[in-house]
Amino acid sequence: MPEYKAPLRDMRFLLNEVFDYPGHYEKLPSGKEATPDMVEAILSECARFCEEVLAPLNQKGDADGCELRDGKVTTPRGFKAAYDQFVAGGWQGLSHPAEYGGQGMPMSMGMLKSEMMGTCNWSFTMYPGLSLGCMNTILLHGTEEQKDAYMPPLTQGTWGGTMCLTEPQCGTDLGQVSSKAEPNADGSYNVTGTKIFISSGDHDLTENIVHIVLARLPDAPPGTRGISLFIIPKYLPDGKGGIGEYNNVECGSLEHKMGIKGSATCVINFDQSKAFLIGPPNKGLDCMFTFMNTARIGTAVQGVGAAELAYQGALLYSKERRSMRALSGKKEPEKVADALHYHADVRRMLLTMRAIAEGGRAMLYHAAQFADFMSEAILAKDEKKREQWDDKLGFFTPILKGFLTEVGYEAANLGMQVFGGHGYIKEHGMEQIVRDARIATLYEGTTGVQALDLLGRKVLLMTKGKAVQEFTGTILKLCAQLARDKTTLPFALTLAKLCAQWNYLTVRLMLVASRDRDMVSSAAYDFLMYSGYVTMGYFWALQANVAATKLKKGGGSETAEFYRTKLETAEFYFQRILPRAGAHADSMLAPTSSVMQTPIEHFEFA
Ligand SMILES: Cc1cc2nc3c(=O)[nH]c(=O)nc-3n(C[C@H](O)[C@H](O)[C@H](O)COP(=O)(O)OP(=O)(O)OC[C@H]3O[C@@H](n4cnc5c(N)ncnc54)[C@H](O)[C@@H]3O)c2cc1C
Repeated sequence: MPEYKAPLRDMRFLLNEVFDYPGHYEKLPSGKEATPDMVEAILSECARFCEEVLAPLNQKGDADGCELRDGKVTTPRGFKAAYDQFVAGGWQGLSHPAEYGGQGMPMSMGMLKSEMMGTCNWSFTMYPGLSLGCMNTILLHGTEEQKDAYMPPLTQGTWGGTMCLTEPQCGTDLGQVSSKAEPNADGSYNVTGTKIFISSGDHDLTENIVHIVLARLPDAPPGTRGISLFIIPKYLPDGKGGIGEYNNVECGSLEHKMGIKGSATCVINFDQSKAFLIGPPNKGLDCMFTFMNTARIGTAVQGVGAAELAYQGALLYSKERRSMRALSGKKEPEKVADALHYHADVRRMLLTMRAIAEGGRAMLYHAAQFADFMSEAILAKDEKKREQWDDKLGFFTPILKGFLTEVGYEAANLGMQVFGGHGYIKEHGMEQIVRDARIATLYEGTTGVQALDLLGRKVLLMTKGKAVQEFTGTILKLCAQLARDKTTLPFALTLAKLCAQWNYLTVRLMLVASRDRDMVSSAAYDFLMYSGYVTMGYFWALQANVAATKLKKGGGSETAEFYRTKLETAEFYFQRILPRAGAHADSMLAPTSSVMQTPIEHFEFA
């Protein structure tokens, strides 16, 4: 397995020099404690925990997998001890309110933690990650009684959580959910039904597991308007902070899957399990999706993590492995052959991984500031502000989730490619990165669903193209700055053209879609990828702008080599990756007949 080294230099560059996180935290009520020294201490300690504890378990977790025996799931060897350290370190409650035992740090600090932990061991990080979804739902929609009963052990990490949406007949189309909730005289419910693919559905890391479950009340309207949300603990709370009676929540089986084998993916059967309604009846989906944007950003992190880990592994290997001579002449004449990294094609692969990892990280850190504002509004119970920030974040979310997981997977594949045949062999751990990263484009809404959300809902329906206009306005402001310096002028010229094209494409699609409804679905994927490449272009240009300024002024907390490399990677991105946007532009405007004209029975011709 590639040895993981937390990319602290890049993280600090983004936090302090590109996005001014110290200034950002000063503006937040929850940011008072997040002083530069405190942030630095948390980052360093998290990096140590990741490098020394979690990273060494990644390959072992893949080999061991999870086991279901006598109705109980065990996680891979070493996971429980690592989880105990995670709990002792107070990591679960880093960004959750102090009144429940958390550290009350801004939401974005939690993302930085998840980025490092998820990169070096995604399977392990899934367990606390699912708990976060559960905690956020209870925090926002639970009654005071529910919060008091569940938040303290969840915040501490001694109880875990899940999100139970998917059933055998439906994943994307949750309107088909059929688990049933029958009311009891005491105000609770009994839920019966089967959920599949439930991450962290059962395991041996915590003493209790709190499931957040979608089910239907009797006489609920059909479809998405008739779904309610419930808390169903595996063991009922005993009222004194401990666990009581077993609640008929059973793990029926474990899924045998391609990757993330250390993460238990369970079939969970609820059999007359005692359940507690959370949020209003029949509004379950609205409640579940309040934190959808932040949960989806959590999955986007997986794409960036895969690119980072693949890059670290491939870089090391490309220095050690020798093959033939560089086309421009021997580089290491004393050696039998030149190292891989002298070959232009290998450098192309390395730089692609790096550009995706660092460009994607910048995209995430920008969105995390929006998430901070949104969660502050939630805590302040300011619904108007919450909506405002959720909308802002909402435009970027499908781009982050859909695009970053797609290119993250590409980067994982390139990491394997740099290893040649050795990448395909388990020993080096590069094929594990590919297998683990593959799920990211599927769960939390497939790429196709993100694409429809972006083009159909966020761009065409909700904002009539304004979302694109607004963001391209921001990009053009940067272009004006970039144009003042000859080093960054080429970035400005390219981005300005793309801004015009992005708006043109939006209007064209809006017009065509008004008479041909299939247009949205047929163009959505290309629109998503186009938007992703241009957005990443903006964040590379932003980094290049800072690097160029620091080089010119001779200041900054990094070395000149660091800033120069930023500029060179930005140039690589603009010259070698961003042109892909053009192909997506052509493809999205192709008539729908190109995908719809072939009758379905003709798909079967051999
Ligand atoms: C390892 C793993 C962990 C998971 N963890 C959880 C979990 O913790 N909790 C949970 O509830 N679920 C979980 N899931 C389920 C996951 O979220 C779903 O598998 C996912 O949402 C897709 O649903 P589906 O599998 O039913 O695919 P489907 O909805 O059947 O989709 C199949 C294909 O059709 C496309 N498609 C569907 N509808 C449309 C449309 N209207 N227009 C265009 N294309 C469409 C999709 O993009 C996809 O390509 C997990 C799944 C896996 C594999």
